[in-house]
Amino acid sequence: MPRWIATLAIATAAGAVLVQCGSTPTRVESPPPATSPPFVARATPPTTRTSPPPATVRPVSVAELGPSWRPDCPVAPEQLRRIDVNYFGFDAKIHRGSVIVHEELAAEVVAIFEQLLRLRYPIEKMRTVDNYPGAEDELSMQDNNTSAFNCRGIPGASRWSEHAFGRAIDLNPLLNPAIHQSGLLEPKTAAPYLDRSRIVPGLLHAGDPAVRVFTDRGWQWGGEWQDPVDYQHFER
Ligand SMILES: [Zn+2]
Repeated sequence: MPRWIATLAIATAAGAVLVQCGSTPTRVESPPPATSPPFVARATPPTTRTSPPPATVRPVSVAELGPSWRPDCPVAPEQLRRIDVNYFGFDAKIHRGSVIVHEELAAEVVAIFEQLLRLRYPIEKMRTVDNYPGAEDELSMQDNNTSAFNCRGIPGASRWSEHAFGRAIDLNPLLNPAIHQSGLLEPKTAAPYLDRSRIVPGLLHAGDPAVRVFTDRGWQWGGEWQDPVDYQHFER
């Protein structure tokens, strides 16, 4: 490379620094002939890459909640927030998903999903459960749908799940089933994912960065429970 080109390239790359430092840029004594344009000195066109839109948090209406809410639920719709946020898909592309959580957790849940995106933890889909007939959790789980609020009880128990308060998130639930000592598997179709030693994208293990995104913030992980071992479940 001719010396003037190298000098020009360095001066261009470090131009702002040189000016700030008060250094005198090296003069180019011999301007290049017109037949040999100093292509290295041309500025790269401004990038046209657009960033995905930032997360949004907004109130939800009874109509939006559909079958996931009913009047005897332990939270009112006014206490819930819909979060629209970007996530990293199994196709390595960025997608937009939605979860509904308690208003007290909204900002933290935004931070959680933004951190999962930075980690490139893949999520298959993120739709609110009213998109499934009767807001049926089994259908959402079999669909490997990541979700949060759902006004439902704990299977086999007579009390509300933390999901009914908008205080729990199920992450890739088909890959990360709930395994009960009774033999009950949630979802029923998750048998291929009973081997928890497998290292496959999205499958959660103790100490995984994606698990720590939650537990470092004080969330409980169901993967550390005894019965069920609920690998998909995080609550706070
Ligand atoms: Zn759960």
